[in-house]
Amino acid sequence: MNTETLINFAYIVASILFIFGLKMLGRQSTARRGNMLSSGGMLLAVVVTLIDQQVVTFQWILVGLGIGGAIGLACARLIKMTSMPEMVALLNGFGGLASLLVGWAEYAKPGDTLSTFTGTVIVLAVFIGGITFTGSLYAFGKLSGKLSGKPVLFGGQQIVNGALVLGLAAAGVLFVINGGAGAMGPNAFYALLAIAFILGITLVMPIGGGDMPVVISMLNSLSGLAACAAGFVILNNVLIVAGCLVGTSGVILTIIMCKAMNRSLANVLFSGFGSDATTAAGSSEGQIQGELKPISAEDTFAVLEAAREVVVVPGYGMAVSQAQHVVRELAEMLENNGAEVRFAIHPVAGRMPGHMNVLLAEANVPYEQLVEMDSVNPQMPMMDVAIVIGANDVVNPAAARDKSSPIYGMPIINAHEARTVICLKRGKGAGFSGIENQLFLLENTRMLYGDAKASLQAVASEFKAMAEA
Ligand code: NAP
Repeated sequence: MNTETLINFAYIVASILFIFGLKMLGRQSTARRGNMLSSGGMLLAVVVTLIDQQVVTFQWILVGLGIGGAIGLACARLIKMTSMPEMVALLNGFGGLASLLVGWAEYAKPGDTLSTFTGTVIVLAVFIGGITFTGSLYAFGKLSGKLSGKPVLFGGQQIVNGALVLGLAAAGVLFVINGGAGAMGPNAFYALLAIAFILGITLVMPIGGGDMPVVISMLNSLSGLAACAAGFVILNNVLIVAGCLVGTSGVILTIIMCKAMNRSLANVLFSGFGSDATTAAGSSEGQIQGELKPISAEDTFAVLEAAREVVVVPGYGMAVSQAQHVVRELAEMLENNGAEVRFAIHPVAGRMPGHMNVLLAEANVPYEQLVEMDSVNPQMPMMDVAIVIGANDVVNPAAARDKSSPIYGMPIINAHEARTVICLKRGKGAGFSGIENQLFLLENTRMLYGDAKASLQAVASEFKAMAEA
């Protein structure tokens, strides 16, 4: 077997490991092994690529490995679980930049005029990589609070973006038909680079901070496509396969998130959701009646003490207050008191996919207690108490009843159908969509005001006092 055949054979094995690893990520019980399997595939791909003597010098590879490995290790240790979306945004951005640099390096290599194929794939790697890079940095800025999370909208925005796309296409075509050479080739290349960088920012600008997870999974998909194009630039099969896998899985995740919010991708990208204009539209036609009825921690304890079927509905506020550990403690106390406790998980609760699952897993809540929205809703009328912890939009009945609501059509957890609903929040703050919630005004709802963690601690201490008495 010659070296080339050996390398390609190893690439096929690596690709199979990626695919099986990805499949195993779909179940919590196999996810860890799936991750290891894919990492093993990547290690194999890297090792066999190093056998290929066309690679840059081993000294440079070791320098890159040392620096990259140290940064990766520091990030893995220092970044908190709740900051994962920002981290993923940065990783996507640098993935895009790497593909851009591969395309640029191939263009900068001394040689003849580029073939149409090579020119085209360089254009794709550079423009997709460039958009991914600046778009991801902008998304990182919004998510980390360094930039305002509000959508930035200005008159003629779509026209500006349209003109940039046309400019990008023109620069790309000029680059390819000139084979990257002559006076026009380099000019077209630098124009392409500049426009891609600007477009990355102008495309993400009008999207609100709360929609950033959708944008990030879309940028993740783009970074995969850029890697795929880079794979074609240097004719590396495993890079092409890995790029396609990242590209398609990013698209699937984007579609899942849009479906869970009952919004189209176009609505997420272009509607400026979260701006004052969109939130005002929903509240003007709201049908809010009734009044907010506060409840104390002592009375909450009394209600919970008598309950036999309890459902916890966590939301973004649980993440903000980091209440997951005390929630687990309280759930254990309720179970010791004879109640059955389940956690109802809405697919877009929080601010990133799997946000609630990650937090509850971190607090060692047994996975079997987590119930998906579709399974828990039919059981809701049988629940004695629904404890809504910092969730708002995902339990807003307006999504089912009020056609004028911006979240109309979004599937919700039917917490309002439980016999008693106890909502934990700090005050009258709205959720991500910025609209009022009729759940808080219903006859069977009580409001336990305060930071979720502090409120839960107060209720838990009542249980402790009861146990000690
Ligand atoms: P939400 O609608 O954003 O509501 C969160 C609530 O938590 C607020 O009403 C707030 O009220 C309360 N809160 C904040 N800090 C708190 C604290 N320390 N203690 C107690 N309560 C606190 O949250 P959600 O119900 O989880 O809904 C998620 C929203 O994000 C949906 O609209 C979804 O479409 C959107 N989204 C999610 C994703 C995703 O991937 N998960 C992606 C994009 C968009 P107070 O200020 O009064 O306390």
